[in-house]
Amino acid sequence: SKKAVLGPLVGAVDQGTSSTRFLVFNSKTAELLSHHQVEIKQEFPREGWVEQDPKEILHSVYECIEKTCEKLGQLNIDISNIKAIGVSNQRETTVVWDKLTGEPLYNAVVWLDLRTQSTVESLSKRIPGNNNFVKSKTGLPLSTYFSAVKLRWLLDNVRKVQKAVEEKRALFGTIDSWLIWSLTGGVNGGVHCTDVTNASRTMLFNIHSLEWDKQLCEFFGIPMEILPNVRSSSEIYGLMKAGALEGVPISGCLGDQSAALVGQMCFQNGQAKNTYGTGCFLLCNTGHKCVFSDHGLLTTVAYKLGRDKPVYYALEGSVAIAGAVIRWLRDNLGIIESSEEIEKLAKEVGTSYGCYFVPAFSGLYAPYWEPSARGIICGLTQFTNKCHIAFAALEAVCFQTREILDAMNRDCGIPLSHLQVDGGMTSNKILMQLQADILYIPVVKPSMPETTALGAAMAAGAAEGVGVWSLEPEDLSAVTMERFEPQINAEESEIRYSTWKKAVMKSMGWVT
Ligand code: ADP
Repeated sequence: SKKAVLGPLVGAVDQGTSSTRFLVFNSKTAELLSHHQVEIKQEFPREGWVEQDPKEILHSVYECIEKTCEKLGQLNIDISNIKAIGVSNQRETTVVWDKLTGEPLYNAVVWLDLRTQSTVESLSKRIPGNNNFVKSKTGLPLSTYFSAVKLRWLLDNVRKVQKAVEEKRALFGTIDSWLIWSLTGGVNGGVHCTDVTNASRTMLFNIHSLEWDKQLCEFFGIPMEILPNVRSSSEIYGLMKAGALEGVPISGCLGDQSAALVGQMCFQNGQAKNTYGTGCFLLCNTGHKCVFSDHGLLTTVAYKLGRDKPVYYALEGSVAIAGAVIRWLRDNLGIIESSEEIEKLAKEVGTSYGCYFVPAFSGLYAPYWEPSARGIICGLTQFTNKCHIAFAALEAVCFQTREILDAMNRDCGIPLSHLQVDGGMTSNKILMQLQADILYIPVVKPSMPETTALGAAMAAGAAEGVGVWSLEPEDLSAVTMERFEPQINAEESEIRYSTWKKAVMKSMGWVT
């Protein structure tokens, strides 16, 4: 059959906490031509522990690539038009593997995992109160969230990891490194690298000099030879070694939140986006300047789109549990069968009827950074039913976003006039309307919600030696916007928000 003629295409791997996707875009319009998605298992071997199987993640990537290529074939689109592949990934999640066998030496320790709480406590005693060098070098507060402490735990507790380090066979990486190493050949010449955005979430990376930091590695006791090479977010790292896209360059790599910032075209100082996935992450571009927060936000590398291009920084507000609370209602309580069903329940009642749900399953991240918090549902009466709880869960996501937006406005001085949003949860219209009501500013959502993948594809397509994407707005002509305007009165919005804050206070101090 005759194949349709198109401009150059770019593929993107989006390896998230809940699923893996592969998507193919037209580089001239950003039109999404085809994609495939596979849900990823999460294991909870003990209370507070969250693990994933690195091999399952890798296989899901291959499966998504193969299935997407088949679908393109059915659309008469020739896959030889795919000129580059970008990778975007869940950040901080930590993998250690054996470079001689290609086998992971332990499950991936997921960013949400809390096992390192005592590691964090003992390390924080060693940071002088008047010289928090970890914060000033990395932009991050010492927390279970970041890779360095997860890696420390693996080195302390897993004999296979210790042995491989001693025998110089161990490689460390976040999910991007694990995937790029494997996809570019693994034991047969795989490239061990990461990009500046992912590196900036390890807590071992100096965000000013853009290098691994010797003092930090000594502080965490991490041997520097197991760390990947740090590259820009847009350059050719290597070629696909197998599968339908063998030979195609992998030329973009960004942590998922940075990728979404790029995919939303937030290239100017002061532009921000909020992504609603497993967690919720609001990033505001602060240009070439590292801005340090007084309100619990992180300072992080936004992107560096080319070896010789300048680095951009962002302020970030991170919420640990957003979509994860919906998944919890599905998997743990069974009150819904699919995530989408939450909308139907919430719609039935249109209010939480005074019920508040603080999903502090992994403690609270921004702006509180309170590891002692745990989830609570409060304000229950005889009248409360599962629909109210569903509604309260959606509201919780909106309130948490309001808290980080308030912090962002205070740190930046100029309040955001609207909020650009994306991520899996944004297909939920009730959530979007609630968010506009609770923030009391318009919420703006692109018609194509896969902004994270788009950002990775843009970085890959723009790389030197690929050059099929210009990063100009004209190249996004297929993306239109949907707006949600606030519909309640400001007073009601404030009352609900202040009751939420009361509930948050009650969630703190549960574990000591
Ligand atoms: P990640 O990138 O973290 O893997 P996604 O952006 O894929 O996350 O979003 C998936 C999350 O969004 C899941 O936690 C899921 O429960 C939630 N979700 C998906 N669809 C809906 C919906 N219609 N309403 C509410 N939550 C949803």
